[in-house]
Amino acid sequence: VQAILCIILLLTCLLLGLLKGQNGTLKELIYLGLKNKEFIPFYQPIVDSSSQQVIGCEILVRWIKKNGEIISPNLFIPIAEYNGQIFELTYDLLNQVSADIGKLALKHPDFYVSLNVIPEQLEDDNFAENVFKILKKHQIEANNIAFEVTERTPFTNLKKAEKVINQLKSQNIDIKLDDAGTGYGGFSYLQELPIDTLKIDKMFVETIGTNDVKSKILSSIILFGKNAGLKMIAEGVENQEQVEYLNRKGITLIQGYYYAKPMPFEDFSRYYERNLAT
Ligand code: C2E
Ligand code: CA
Ligand code: CA
Ligand code: CA
Repeated sequence: VQAILCIILLLTCLLLGLLKGQNGTLKELIYLGLKNKEFIPFYQPIVDSSSQQVIGCEILVRWIKKNGEIISPNLFIPIAEYNGQIFELTYDLLNQVSADIGKLALKHPDFYVSLNVIPEQLEDDNFAENVFKILKKHQIEANNIAFEVTERTPFTNLKKAEKVINQLKSQNIDIKLDDAGTGYGGFSYLQELPIDTLKIDKMFVETIGTNDVKSKILSSIILFGKNAGLKMIAEGVENQEQVEYLNRKGITLIQGYYYAKPMPFEDFSRYYERNLAT
């Protein structure tokens, strides 16, 4: 028995060592990627289905290697979040996005670009100031920027988060709750934090028209959002049936392949201008 325990212990140590080494290597690779400007913002339109107008977009990062290979955020964002590189990555994206949207020809005043952040960023004393600095550098109006925060990791200091969110809101930067209903706090944060929009996750949208129990959760989220007076955006919307269901429930703001996939800025800018022309 002792021998077996010894072997298990040895294997565990080896595995932990490997994981640590692996994470160390990935951290190094992300560091180099940042240095070489390999993290590129892709833009996915958010459309008001009642007017067909593009009212904003979400930024979804892509890691594009020198050889053209595109790496999905699911493969590196968790690591960047874990080791704190997400701060530098977000500032880098905000710089690129600000430079990009400065070039958008027909910009209606309420148009916004929404960037993903984690609770840790909204609890950081310097976050709002750093964001304002970047926007100022590019002469971008703060109300053209928004943030969406996921509950993948928990808030640990709601007082701090409230302070930072209020700093951002004082400049008309809106904060949305991403992946509502999938993460840590349920809806408890919404009582504590000045958040005014819910993003309804694809996980729920895809149950529309099925018997999945999750479709009951979808109904509850929508009811909750309505009662709490929150704005709602449905994401991962892929077909007409889903759009019609959501419209019947009073949700008109739609993001998903039904309208468009995330795309590089050049394509988005064409999409946006064509949309404004119609
Ligand atoms: P998310 O914030 O929930 O973003 C929505 C994901 O759904 C995106 O995946 C998007 O491409 C995908 N999507 C949108 N519409 C549809 C649809 O109609 N059908 C399907 N099948 N998928 C759709 P993506 O781009 O792979 O991003 C994955 C996750 O990575 C994001 O999930 C977000 O949590 C994270 N992420 C991406 N960029 C950033 C970033 O700059 N910072 C942080 N912290 N996280 C990011
Ligand atoms: Ca998001
Ligand atoms: Ca989401
Ligand atoms: Ca999601």
